[in-house]
Amino acid sequence: MSLFFQVLASGSKGNAILVCSSRTQVLFDAGLSGRELSRRLEKTPLNGHRLDGLVLSHEHQDHTRGAGVISRRFDLPVYLTRGTLENLAPPVGQLAHAHIFQTGASFLIGDLAIHPFAVSHDACEPSGFVIQQGNMRMAICTDLGVATQLVKTRLQGCRALVLESNHDVGRLMEGPYPWHLKQRIRSRHGHLSNDDTIALLRELHHEGLRSILLAHLSEVNNHPELVRKSVQELQHCEEWADVRFEIGRQDAVSPGIEVD
Ligand SMILES: [Zn+2]
Ligand SMILES: [Zn+2]
Repeated sequence: MSLFFQVLASGSKGNAILVCSSRTQVLFDAGLSGRELSRRLEKTPLNGHRLDGLVLSHEHQDHTRGAGVISRRFDLPVYLTRGTLENLAPPVGQLAHAHIFQTGASFLIGDLAIHPFAVSHDACEPSGFVIQQGNMRMAICTDLGVATQLVKTRLQGCRALVLESNHDVGRLMEGPYPWHLKQRIRSRHGHLSNDDTIALLRELHHEGLRSILLAHLSEVNNHPELVRKSVQELQHCEEWADVRFEIGRQDAVSPGIEVD
């Protein structure tokens, strides 16, 4: 038994992550145009096999832009909170089938168990997800201003993590964004900084942790080199030597990661 995941796009211009078991294929977020999502899906092992579902984390357009198009094109069930459904931007259009979930209540898509949990972000009812097959667990958690105790508890014991590392605090504060936007990003309802993420990872380390993909990097307020540097600091500790790190990209599909 194993899980496989591949980040199709990651960043403030669009997010989508494919998660598969040998039987089930689920897309988490659809923040690219329908055409671009299809193009990037062709670069994954999905290879024309059917998607079994689309799960949305929250209503922001960088997570939902193509949701209506691909749900109608593939006649795909879309799993989302009521808050997300009621706040989808009009251009998303109709979803083929909407399945409402509640954070804290697990549901199944094929042989994948999805455990959604609440995160703190400036959206109506945003979620992170633990995805489980058998005793194998991975998590996707982006778009959160603070790692609450609930988030830490949910992320514990996962073999793979897709975790936000949005901005470098110095770059953000010295950068071109207006003051109110800087405040929003830094707030409890904004995004995790590189430092926040490294601190969280230190708390989450355990022997079974194998892979980490750092995601949702700001193109303006961050740079992959800065993220790599903070990861290298972490890797000075021997306990991190066996953990694989990747950085999600906005403009291209990231390497696929087998979780076993
Ligand atoms: Zn986002
Ligand atoms: Zn967001």
